This record gives sequence, structure tokens and C-alpha cells, in this order.
Amino acid sequence: MRLVVDLNRCQGYAQCAFLAPDVFVMHGEEALMYDPGADESQREQITRAAAACPVQAILVDQVDQLEEARAHVR
Ligand code: SF4
Repeated sequence: MRLVVDLNRCQGYAQCAFLAPDVFVMHGEEALMYDPGADESQREQITRAAAACPVQAILVDQVDQLEEARAHVR
């Protein structure tokens, strides 16, 4: 599955790391590390994490939209 976190938006709230610890890991207080090629079997956890993110920084299967949004910012 395709997974992207918009790190410009991410505020390090760590909700995702609680809900999907195999995929999202906080590194220090604010830096988030994640697995962009997460396995399909983790979809449910990831969907929950995406829903819980207070700033909607986690995009699942919307990578094209994110790339398009970035293109408009430039
Ligand atoms: S829940 Fe959202 S804001 Fe918090 S660390 Fe995860 S992606 Fe970032």
C-alpha cells in the first residue's frame, strides 16, 4: 500500500505512533519516521492512525493528490 506523511503538516502529536507502532515511530520529541511501503496487512492500523491524526498529515493511497498539491505550492 502507498503511504505518505506530509511532514510539513505533521506536528509530532504521536497519535499515529500509538495506533500503528509498527509503521510510525517517533524519533525524539518531534521527528516522525515511518515506513512508506507498509504492508497491506497493516492497513487497518494505518487507517486508524490516519483518522486520528489531528492535522490530517497521513495520506493513504492518495499519493498522487499529495504530489499534485506540492506541485501547486512550488
Ligand atoms: S499523528 Fe499526525 S501530527 Fe502526529 S505524529 Fe502522526 S502524522 Fe504527525
